[in-house]
Amino acid sequence: QMPNPNPQFQNIPTEEGQYQKYRAAGKLKGQKALITGGDSGIGRATAVLFAMEGADSFITHMSEERQDAQKTKEMVEQHGHKCYLYEVDLSELKNCKKVVDEAVSKLGGIDILFNNAAYQMMVESIDDLPEDQWIHTFNINVHSLFHITKYARPHLKAGASIINNASINAYIGRPDLLDYTSTKGAIISFTRGLSNQLVGKGIRVNAIAPGPVWTPLIPATMSEKAIKDFTSPLGRPGQPSEIATCVVFLASTDSSFISGQTIHCNGGVVVNG
Ligand code: NAD
Repeated sequence: QMPNPNPQFQNIPTEEGQYQKYRAAGKLKGQKALITGGDSGIGRATAVLFAMEGADSFITHMSEERQDAQKTKEMVEQHGHKCYLYEVDLSELKNCKKVVDEAVSKLGGIDILFNNAAYQMMVESIDDLPEDQWIHTFNINVHSLFHITKYARPHLKAGASIINNASINAYIGRPDLLDYTSTKGAIISFTRGLSNQLVGKGIRVNAIAPGPVWTPLIPATMSEKAIKDFTSPLGRPGQPSEIATCVVFLASTDSSFISGQTIHCNGGVVVNG
């Protein structure tokens, strides 16, 4: 994980250190999870906590992040669980069915679907936002999420859980990430509609809306100024594991009466909606 350049954020634990205080309780024993974008950040932390709770994972990753995906696999395997890696570019929607087919074939089924992969790139003004960036962002963040969920759906049985990674930005309307912000709003509406379709079948569908979390996405896509301002009312950005705990909650029967909701894990920003 890249060091955070802001001196006030230096007390954040190392990536491995984040898991030391976590008390696993076998909440996902024997479960099988498909996680998109598991090579770093929140996806990796979720695969690790899933393993600590007893689940195997199938994670997608991008080619240039192969080393990172390998690290996720090693971290999962340390907890005695399986982690299958699958390289895919989700902007190519034709790849989505293959992702699900491969996950089902490797894992032997899917109990948890964590739609986590996303793309963002800062652009200050709508005047400078290229149309093809808008389409690319929607392809990865929304269209691939729809395709993967559609193809996974027939494999999900009563008790299965779908968790979609949205963002605080959908609520606060962050201006310099207009395309990304719009995709995250779509994800929240999709979560609500799909929950209304599936909850009667015992399949729960929820979203998370993380606030600022220090992951490789941030230094790769945000300006120096935005990185400097990257904090929360708690006085620091979040750690990926602090988001992954919410995903574990939504994946497990601890949240058995919760569907169609969005959990705001954002360090204390009170948002509407
Ligand atoms: P990250 O860079 O560690 O993860 C992003 C993931 O998306 C990577 O695993 C990457 O492989 C995948 N991805 C990106 N483009 C892809 C493509 N074309 N094909 C396939 N996979 C692709 O960053 P992260 O912060 O852990 O992001 C994970 C999720 O958390 C995203 O949905 C992001 O929007 C959300 N989120 C992050 C923050 C934050 O502050 N970091 C805040 C709110 C929401």
